[in-house]
Amino acid sequence: MCGIVGYVGRKSATPVLIEGLKRLEYRGYDSAGVAIIRDGQLHLCKSAGRIAGLEDRLEDHPELAAGMVGIAHTRWATHGAPTEENAHPHTDCTGRIAVVHNGIIENYAALKQVLEDKGHTFRSDTDSEVLAHLVSEFYRDDDGGDLPRAVQQALSEVAGTYGLAVVCADEPGMIVAARKGSPLIVGVGADEYIVASDASAIVEHTVNVIYLNDNEMVVIDEAGLRTLTIDNVPVSKQVQQIEWSLEQIALGEFEHFMLKEIFEQPEALRNSCRGRLNMREGRIQLGGIEHLSRELVKTRRIILTACGTAWHAGLIGEYLFEDLARIPAEVEYASEFRYRNPIIEDQTVVIAISQSGETADTLAALREAEHKGAMTLGVVNVVGSTIARETDAGVYLHAGPEIGVASTKAFTSQLTVLTLISLYLGRRRFMSETTLKQYMEELQAIPDKIETVLAQSDAIKQAVGACVDHDNWLFLGRGYNYPVALEGALKLKEISYIHAEGLPAAEMKHGPIALIAEGMPVVFVAPRCETYDKIIGNIEEVRARGGTVIAVATEGDDRIAQYAEHVFYIPDCPPALQPLLTVVPLQLLAYHAAVARGCNVDKPRNLAKSVTVE
Ligand code: GLU
Repeated sequence: MCGIVGYVGRKSATPVLIEGLKRLEYRGYDSAGVAIIRDGQLHLCKSAGRIAGLEDRLEDHPELAAGMVGIAHTRWATHGAPTEENAHPHTDCTGRIAVVHNGIIENYAALKQVLEDKGHTFRSDTDSEVLAHLVSEFYRDDDGGDLPRAVQQALSEVAGTYGLAVVCADEPGMIVAARKGSPLIVGVGADEYIVASDASAIVEHTVNVIYLNDNEMVVIDEAGLRTLTIDNVPVSKQVQQIEWSLEQIALGEFEHFMLKEIFEQPEALRNSCRGRLNMREGRIQLGGIEHLSRELVKTRRIILTACGTAWHAGLIGEYLFEDLARIPAEVEYASEFRYRNPIIEDQTVVIAISQSGETADTLAALREAEHKGAMTLGVVNVVGSTIARETDAGVYLHAGPEIGVASTKAFTSQLTVLTLISLYLGRRRFMSETTLKQYMEELQAIPDKIETVLAQSDAIKQAVGACVDHDNWLFLGRGYNYPVALEGALKLKEISYIHAEGLPAAEMKHGPIALIAEGMPVVFVAPRCETYDKIIGNIEEVRARGGTVIAVATEGDDRIAQYAEHVFYIPDCPPALQPLLTVVPLQLLAYHAAVARGCNVDKPRNLAKSVTVE
């Protein structure tokens, strides 16, 4: 998920690698490291925190100052805290093979067990370290050694996603790199090659690049470069030209990080589920809470606590826990909860939700709950963050770094994780295996369904264009989609500065209906569900007062098109999973509205990404 740079050439590798890592900094990372081969020896330097810290360290390691082959990494932790030990590159027991890896190795725990039984000693908590030991296991130096072959054999054992680069002191001029589900590009310069996870680390050296596809690998050595599949079938690749500026590369085809992150949601959700849906055994695997499962099953009450968008995820969590796990649940604003002298009875579980894991109010609420004897769980994105460390257990989002201030992919990943926890508890309490499996299949289908919603981005942009001059909007929904209405309103407010309010649709006639005037945009989140007919009634009420109706509906629903000016469609899915789809058009709507009004989408005024003050 984060950054890889590799170098084979005639220059001193370390400065090239460090420069490359700096180019990747915009992606966000928590630690960095570099491995150099020099005089047939592997030399390593790693550091938790910023690249500047790694540079300071390098001053004490002159052995890395020369050497023309090396690999480097910026890590965004998914398994194990962001410490120096867990930073990449990882090495095998002999210290002769080094690996940098982006992605998640799903079956790392099983592989680690097998390797430990064979005598391998692990030094980190990462999933990635198994790769170094696996390659080493297959690397036979008695017959001359064959690093590409060893990497292929290792990868045949691995389930999950990877962009990776490997070096071996016994083959000092070589880098082997491979990809599956995580990008990897090779820059082809004059007498030098740069492997990177992102073109921004390459452009200052060359514009000539080869893009690896999934299941492809590249072997670079003195003889040049060869590309093949990870099953050892040679493939010929075209050298292409990068025509983008550095800034464009950081954003890819997108104008803003927020839009990029909206479009990253299918991948983010796949990563949130990776290794957690055991379809074969009909089981949800959540390593982070497994050790407490006996106590968790006995939970009498769940309190979800969070702020902002994460609070909306918590509100959906409240519905999920009651619906799927049959446990009484309520969501609390962390800022209120912490000062309210809350009542915590026996067998209460408090779940803190925060993208950064550092939100000051959420942390204080968590400490209050702990103080009163609650069992605490964390649902956070940043591994090793304060909330992750202070909770009894937790489930990481694995959504990758979120840079846009307005949270999008972290929100849907929070929903995914809350769904997983609800199903996990539901199955242990009363849910049949058949029902669980149905939910698991539906959850697995969500990322592809999100793609079909994303495909409507241009239509949403056009629809927004017609309404964007209105300064007051309403967002209405019912059931699982009521919190989505709240989130849609918040997104619009925070980035376009349009005043918007979200409400349960039926509440409209208890007051807010007085606001509706000619042309006022009213967004209805109205997919097919139990209350569909009721919401059509609410739509008619708005129409009768001249409001402009924008609807989010289920594919094939022609009826709603008769009442609404604009309709955006989501594929059908069970109500509990609908928010994962219905929120996407609202994110796009807010985005396009902000762009149309000339707002700074990624850095909205007065807002910070991580709110570490009360
Ligand atoms: N899963 C790996 C780790 O936690 C790689 C993370 C990354 O992509 O940076 O070390």
